[in-house]
Amino acid sequence: MANAGSRVKGQKALVTGASMGIGRAVAVGLAREGAAVVGINYSSSEDQARETAKLVEAEGARAVLLRADVSDEQQAQRMVEQFIGEAGAIDILVNNAGTLVKRHSIEGMPTELWRRVFAVNLDGVFFVTRAAITHMKERGGNIVNITSVAAYTGGGPGSVHYAATKGGLATLTIGLAKELAAYGIRVNAVAPGPIDTPFHERFTPEEHRQSFVESTLLRRFGTPEEVAAAVLFLVSDESSYITGSTIDVNGGMFFRL
Ligand code: NAP
Repeated sequence: MANAGSRVKGQKALVTGASMGIGRAVAVGLAREGAAVVGINYSSSEDQARETAKLVEAEGARAVLLRADVSDEQQAQRMVEQFIGEAGAIDILVNNAGTLVKRHSIEGMPTELWRRVFAVNLDGVFFVTRAAITHMKERGGNIVNITSVAAYTGGGPGSVHYAATKGGLATLTIGLAKELAAYGIRVNAVAPGPIDTPFHERFTPEEHRQSFVESTLLRRFGTPEEVAAAVLFLVSDESSYITGSTIDVNGGMFFRL
């Protein structure tokens, strides 16, 4: 099937954590908008990553599967080099891979849990972005970081470790925007509220799900495609005067009270 849109026509895009959920919707959306090559990173969900690749190819783009744990410095670096080897360049980087690992109150929180969430959500963005910038500097481009409403709220039950990483990522987004503007690289973020993905199947018990729904004005979970729509806007020329900004995709969560 031919590409349906043309907002990122011919561009080469790398999406971390694209085997499912928001990352998959972003990868497929980029392909639909004319990306020539879409890099699909994952760390363990091979079958789901292959499914994303099929969906990307069905939209007319070339899919490149990239197995790498973004929290591992060497693997992150190799992943970017592998993508450059396959695609020749990188125009768009979407730092989406993220995890909660486990809900836990701060009292007694295992140090390994704290460190693992920081390693994936923050170190991972640092490793991948640092490696990608070397190539992106040559021709400019766009970086979008997926933060979270948790960056402002401190997170739902048992997720202070996760919220802290997303707060850090929000700040990193602004710092990178300042540093990389000179190279024609815009850096923005999308901060989702509750989005219906495998993330919640794993980490959110049913009773918390209902309270998330009630915390939104729109009284429902969002879809991965609704987050992808904001990412697509930020990587397209439609947002050419926007950098260092965050788009909140949260069903009006801030305005419930
Ligand atoms: P998800 O359904 O749990 O999917 C997470 C993706 O990240 C998977 O593709 C997973 O692949 C990948 N991943 C996890 N650890 C990785 C690692 N170390 N290296 C490489 N890839 C890794 O999550 P989601 O709901 O789509 O969330 C995507 C992003 O949005 C995350 O950053 C999350 O924090 C953020 N977010 C989500 C929500 C929400 O309500 N869903 C709200 C706010 C923000 P493997 O299984 O192969 O590891």
